[in-house]
Amino acid sequence: MTIKPVASTGLRDCDSEVFSAIRGEVLRENETLELIASENFVSQAVLEAAGGIMTNKYAEGYPGKRYYGGCEWVDEAENIARDRAKKLFNADYTNVQPHSGSQANMAVFFTFLQPGDTIMGLDLAHGGHLTHGSPVNFSGKLFNVISYQVEKDTGRVNFDKVVEQARQAKPKLIICGGSAYPRFIEFESFRTVADEVGAFLMADIAHPSGLVATGVHPSPWPYCHVVTSTTHKTLRGPRGGLILMGSDWENPWGIVAPKSGRTKNVSELLDSNVMPGIQGGPLMHIIAAKAVAFGEALMPEFQDYSKAIVANAKTMAEAFMKKDYYLISGGTDTHVILIDLTNKELSGKKAENRLEAAGITVNKNMVPYDKRSPMITSGIRIGTPAMTTRGMGVDEMVQIVDLIDSVIQAPDDELVTESVRNEVKEMCDQFPLYSELG
Ligand SMILES: *Cc1c(COP(=O)(O)O)cnc(C)c1O
Repeated sequence: MTIKPVASTGLRDCDSEVFSAIRGEVLRENETLELIASENFVSQAVLEAAGGIMTNKYAEGYPGKRYYGGCEWVDEAENIARDRAKKLFNADYTNVQPHSGSQANMAVFFTFLQPGDTIMGLDLAHGGHLTHGSPVNFSGKLFNVISYQVEKDTGRVNFDKVVEQARQAKPKLIICGGSAYPRFIEFESFRTVADEVGAFLMADIAHPSGLVATGVHPSPWPYCHVVTSTTHKTLRGPRGGLILMGSDWENPWGIVAPKSGRTKNVSELLDSNVMPGIQGGPLMHIIAAKAVAFGEALMPEFQDYSKAIVANAKTMAEAFMKKDYYLISGGTDTHVILIDLTNKELSGKKAENRLEAAGITVNKNMVPYDKRSPMITSGIRIGTPAMTTRGMGVDEMVQIVDLIDSVIQAPDDELVTESVRNEVKEMCDQFPLYSELG
């Protein structure tokens, strides 16, 4: 028998099962309205880099300081990614190796904290993230967690309460930012609280990072000591994480490096907490794809894109409120809308299911002070990044709100579902996606 060289055949010919699953996903993305706030559609160029041969390369370490030979070209890709990320976010330091946003957060926690230290983050049920101290996540298992919440009537953080909580709990790290907070993150107010109690301030801009990069959302500098992000949400890159600092400084704990006896800078501590601290080899194909995405985000068109995301979200918010939907915080500053469906007599779970049947993808979401469980919920979260990438504008947003409302008004009416699904299909045909993937 002859053994074929591994690279000789494509997926279609060598693995029809996986090929067909991927093909199904291409069709699904094409034929549905994607309104999950944390999702986006990457460019053909990002896809190409992410699917490229740098997946083959081991490169533990950092450019110029690897534990493996043959790193000339991956060094180049990582250096491009780092230079572009620093330019994009006006940052002095970046680490582009975290495999995900959660990994970026873990590396920061291990840099600034010891197990058992107190952290303070936004309550998961109020828009926070699992890694901000949920009991089922490493953050809640390793650290002592104090959660702050949003106010019932405003849907916003009340800083008088946050400072009071912080005075009592004396957290070592305060986390601002979340996954379902429709408003700008109040970096400056959080810094005031952090200074008051001597805490470090970390911003997790996983969601709005594309808006931050383009100045459509305020900058975390000079308020935050450290910033983490994903690269795949509004930033529209490959799935991954990122750590940033506006400026580096000597480590404030006077930790002396065992071998050199030298006091390390925070940047060195962060790097060593990513690798070897929590990760081994970096995903070099993904880092190359991050470089491509950062390059795209530096283009003037990306600022137009970011502005369009927010204009679309604000339009949707207005249209929903006109139809008597209750929006947490009464609207949005960003790409996120959080709807409390309590006055609509169906749960978030049912809304998600029925909308999916009609070709509209959203996610059920807890709303602040939710009486239902996380698996059921009383709300849905909607976001505009993906549909804005597709080229849809404010007219389409109004049309989408009408479609969503039809389904929510008559969730069990199959005829309504069917007719919405047909309209969705027509809209999608007008805004083709990945046509090159056939
Ligand atoms: C999405 C998100 C993350 C984590 O991202 P993963 O890449 O899924 O690990 C972290 N923090 C916030 C606020 C997020 O929204």
